[in-house]
Amino acid sequence: MTARGNLFIVSAPSGAGKSSLISALLKDKPTDKQVSVSHTTRQPRPGEVNGQHYHFVTVEEFKALIEENAFFEWAEVFGNYYGTSRRVIEQTLNEGIDVFLDIDWQGAQQVKKLMPESIGVFILPPSRAELERRLAGRGQDSNEIIAGRMAQAASEISHYAEYDFIIINDDFDTALADLIAIIRSQRLTGAGQIHAQNDMIKDLLAD
Ligand code: 5GP
Repeated sequence: MTARGNLFIVSAPSGAGKSSLISALLKDKPTDKQVSVSHTTRQPRPGEVNGQHYHFVTVEEFKALIEENAFFEWAEVFGNYYGTSRRVIEQTLNEGIDVFLDIDWQGAQQVKKLMPESIGVFILPPSRAELERRLAGRGQDSNEIIAGRMAQAASEISHYAEYDFIIINDDFDTALADLIAIIRSQRLTGAGQIHAQNDMIKDLLAD
């Protein structure tokens, strides 16, 4: 019997290293983990591929998807719409694959309400100065956007206590090891093991 996959919500202020951590986690294309590709109305950044980083859509297309109830959650972030496809999440979890949602606190609140067993992970930078340095170092956005995101960072960070786990991304490898430990621990919960090891446990208990 295949256990249902776990749903992980990963949030962080922009520049905390969330995308890099998720990319590192999925680098070797594991068959038991997958990141959900969101829909967004924002413009692609250089190097971003439609269907891989996001499904880039128009505001009209996004609103039509809301009408169709196609989103598990959606939110307006930095003036653009972002949403998670309901169908893909359900299908993937039912295949026993863990799904990672790289979403903001507004989406996280919606997902927690709809699926209380989902696991929230918040990633914090080690300091405000380091966060500022990382945002400036990215070099893909204008100064105005960077300043806007610094202002948003405090508001995103203010929701850290709503999450089940908090990772400080100071040393990248340590933060990645922390994330892997969280995922592994969730596979080992009683509920997860009862499902995954059902036949073996039945056999152990047989007269
Ligand atoms: P970016 O434009 O830098 O890729 O993402 C901006 C913010 O939107 C990030 O905090 C990211 O996690 C969040 N985000 C991306 N996709 C979704 C989504 O589907 N739903 C929600 N609620 N937030 C999202």
